[in-house]
Amino acid sequence: MPELPEVETVVRDLRKAGLEGRCIRDVRVRWSRLIAGCSPKSFAARIKYQTIQEITRRGKYIIFQLSGGETILVHLRMTGQFTLKAPATTRERHEHLVLSLDNGQELRYRDTRKFGRWHLTRHPEQILQKLGPEPLGRAFRLSQFTAHLATHRRLLKPLLLDQAFLAGLGNIYTDEALWEARLHPRRRAETLNQAEARSLFLAIRKILKRGIRYAGTSLGSGKSNFSGLKGRRGRHQEFLRVYQQTGEPCSRCGSLIRRLKIGQRSTHICPTCQMDR
Ligand SMILES: [Zn+2]
Repeated sequence: MPELPEVETVVRDLRKAGLEGRCIRDVRVRWSRLIAGCSPKSFAARIKYQTIQEITRRGKYIIFQLSGGETILVHLRMTGQFTLKAPATTRERHEHLVLSLDNGQELRYRDTRKFGRWHLTRHPEQILQKLGPEPLGRAFRLSQFTAHLATHRRLLKPLLLDQAFLAGLGNIYTDEALWEARLHPRRRAETLNQAEARSLFLAIRKILKRGIRYAGTSLGSGKSNFSGLKGRRGRHQEFLRVYQQTGEPCSRCGSLIRRLKIGQRSTHICPTCQMDR
């Protein structure tokens, strides 16, 4: 499932491919429930002949700012993917939406599991303001994070996954950040001391930056696994220390990595480095 580094990779790929400044000439929606909040017909009418001015990211949302004041917010959920193709290229089974661009290319959205959603709105803040701080943003400060942790009487793992607490983390990067900070995922947020909060703050930023540097995590070899715009797989899976490393030795202490369930989610820890206190 794409998390902040994967979504950031897609946004950078879309920009690099020159999509900013392109005009949308035609829109085909082949699976109506992909569009949230309006009918596919209205969606198509509202974005046709609009220019994509800017492509950015907030949390796990991809933001297409259009010239007419509308904004498209795309959430990839489990298996959403973008590809850029020539119109003559045969349509794949799971390509649910096609934007024809003024440079003759087609931006296609593919989603095998169909959990992804496209929102079209004039008020993107109504959705985005529900998100917590951006962990790699300049406004994300240690003092604020520490204070925030102290007011949440919750277990670290579900708290870090909560997009209203912090935007962008999912299962992979949460497990990796907790290992990096030597914190057990069942620790209660309000029990962290200053040094532990600082370790976690630094770990989250370090792990997310590493994920972006290696263009995201692509697990498995199936077509629905994460890949960038041109089908390029991420390389961050080579750097995972605990996520899906059950039974492997911890790279820090040699103890075997364990898998546990916390709040229905698979969680991976080193039982020695991450003591349950
Ligand atoms: Zn260890």
